[in-house]
Amino acid sequence: MFSCVGYAATAADARLGPVKLDRRDPGPDDVQIDILYCGVCHSDLHQARNEWQNTIFPCVPGHEIVGRVAKVGASVTRFHAGDLVGVGCMVDSCRECPSCREGFEQYCEVGFVPTYNGEERQGGGITFGGYSRAVVVDQAFVLKVPEKLDPAAVAPLLCAGITTYSPLRHWKVGPGQRVGIVGLGGLGHMGVKFARAFGAEVVLFTTSASKVADGLRLGAHEVVLSKDAGAMAKERGRFDFILDAVAANHDINAYLDLLKRDGTLVQVGAPETPLPVSVFSLLMKRRNFSGSLIGGIPETQEMLDFCGEHDITADIEMIRMDQIEDAYARMLRSDVKYRFVIDMATMPESV
Ligand code: NAP
Ligand code: ZN
Ligand code: ZN
Repeated sequence: MFSCVGYAATAADARLGPVKLDRRDPGPDDVQIDILYCGVCHSDLHQARNEWQNTIFPCVPGHEIVGRVAKVGASVTRFHAGDLVGVGCMVDSCRECPSCREGFEQYCEVGFVPTYNGEERQGGGITFGGYSRAVVVDQAFVLKVPEKLDPAAVAPLLCAGITTYSPLRHWKVGPGQRVGIVGLGGLGHMGVKFARAFGAEVVLFTTSASKVADGLRLGAHEVVLSKDAGAMAKERGRFDFILDAVAANHDINAYLDLLKRDGTLVQVGAPETPLPVSVFSLLMKRRNFSGSLIGGIPETQEMLDFCGEHDITADIEMIRMDQIEDAYARMLRSDVKYRFVIDMATMPESV
């Protein structure tokens, strides 16, 4: 074991603060990473505040990790000290079930090991995430990061990026399709970028009038203010596919109504309470309502390589570790432009 400093929530109503963490020494298949940057996902906030009612305290959030390899175990061949690498939402899975074998570790039938708030399969206890100076991860769950990209702006690709890339690919979004992205936050802004890169006609739905110009700059062909009933009515029945990345409860039926016959609405946002769905909206036009969870390891590597080839990264606002509570407060006000990233050099050296 070695110890390092992290930032933890010790209770749902406590401010995050520095804690001393024990990390396992790297085993034969492990990669020890010095963390450079960690993105701030709305899931970190849901989890730190125990909004999903499953948080194990103390909780060290962070699953958008970019860093450099510090050292590797004896069986590690794909990574070497100094390599730029990433870790997303998973650090392990059973590796034997049909989903794992197909590279869909996020749907592991036994349950994948989340980067934080999970139980280590190596028997070391609870997993602690990327709000930390170092992490040790099995090589099978470490991603290669293209060196040509800005590493700080790559960090959000590890969750916000793959969570939007995966459903857009799975439902084969591309040229000739009219595609809606709902909510311009961390996930939504990556959804706009990817849907545009895949050749679709992209319409952003936002509650924030202040984000219209940015929506167009980020790649949307049109931006609709979802609070404008008249503007929403004009969009009825016009969409092949809609990706909903809203973090709070909202009227999902307003978006189901925008789908064409056989169109699909995929929910990636994870509000804490159930969303009432109008069955009539579904059955009148044989519409589909689905969900999607992050992405598997092979697809995450494919996404990072795609971003390297097409020069795609997140639009970020860098923060110091001690600004995390302000960042959470701004997230709750939808005041995100468009992902906070923690500069890990600002983590205290000791507790
Ligand atoms: P975020 O950066 O906070 O963005 C969420 C956006 O939703 C806001 O910026 C806002 O956009 C919109 N919004 C917020 N409250 C709203 C409301 N009451 N009504 C309508 N729109 C509202 O969050 P994020 O990090 O992108 O995460 C979004 C959600 O996805 C979270 O619930 C997160 O836990 C979940 N998530 C799921 C997965 C998965 O695998 N499925 C992975 C990661 C995250 P506008 O200002 O444009 O309206
Ligand atoms: Zn996330
Ligand atoms: Zn499995």
